[in-house]
Amino acid sequence: MPDSPISSTECTSLPVRVLKFGGTSVGSAEGIKNAVRLVRAATETCRPVVVVSAAAGATDDLAQAAAEAQSDCVPVEAWTRRVGRRYRTLAADTLGDEALRARYATALQAELSELRRALQRMSGPNAAAARDVVLAAGERLMVPLVAAALDACGCASRAVDAARLIRTDAAHGNATVQWDATRRQVRDWHRGRAAGLPVATGFVGGTADGETTTLGRGGSDLSAAVLAWALGADRMERWTDVDGLYTRDPDEHSDAQHLQRIDFEQARAWTKAGRLGMHPSTLDPLIDAGIPLRVRCTHRPEAPGTRIAPAPTLAQG
Ligand code: ASP
Ligand code: MG
Repeated sequence: MPDSPISSTECTSLPVRVLKFGGTSVGSAEGIKNAVRLVRAATETCRPVVVVSAAAGATDDLAQAAAEAQSDCVPVEAWTRRVGRRYRTLAADTLGDEALRARYATALQAELSELRRALQRMSGPNAAAARDVVLAAGERLMVPLVAAALDACGCASRAVDAARLIRTDAAHGNATVQWDATRRQVRDWHRGRAAGLPVATGFVGGTADGETTTLGRGGSDLSAAVLAWALGADRMERWTDVDGLYTRDPDEHSDAQHLQRIDFEQARAWTKAGRLGMHPSTLDPLIDAGIPLRVRCTHRPEAPGTRIAPAPTLAQG
């Protein structure tokens, strides 16, 4: 990948920081409210760019919907309604303000129409492309909800579909980032952005022809890292439901040890081996640009989490 990310001090004195919230963090109204509080607090020290996953389990549902829709005797309407119900309930529990709820309802309707059309295309000739639109719906439904929740707490926001930021090849389902074009698109967008704190879809990319792609399961981690890389962020924060990274899955192994600090290369080796629960390519752009990653717990923001950084800087805390 090419080097030389832009200086994070290009526009103001506050650095850009990418905050990524995983599906378990935004899978409930309480989680979304927590996330919004954390973003709001972050605005004191940085210019946040927020990246969100789909609500926990939503992408699994969408993958199942796509698979069922391929064998043409399908309940497209039932799946569309089911996905809609999940997000409508989340919105009702998250947003108290009538106008914001109405705004979200409009975005939801538009996205559900897209989803319905994509499910209908699953039995046609270009099922791989249609499947990516189906899968992307989880994040595309989440972004306007988190954006509305930010607006509700006085943090004016802006929803962004990363299909127009992260350029990929057309390998649907597991697309590869095209670095030069991505950096150009991301910088142009960020420089020219209207007022408002950006909230972008994780997991989603787009081809030069404007087709939606996805970056592989768990791809929101990579989306956040790519944006951090392209914007020269001072760090990426990955907010999740556990207090950092462990040597093994703490739910399954009682001898799992919490990792407070790991150096880049060790973390990369473990991530590639599927051990840290992150998309395997997450650290590549971060290491390329020397951008540290912090893994932190949405429900326990005071916990130190895990810091991943170049070996010489780890000692600085
Ligand atoms: N929602 C996508 C998935 O479940 C991407 C992500 O959460 O990182 O794989
Ligand atoms: Mg994940």
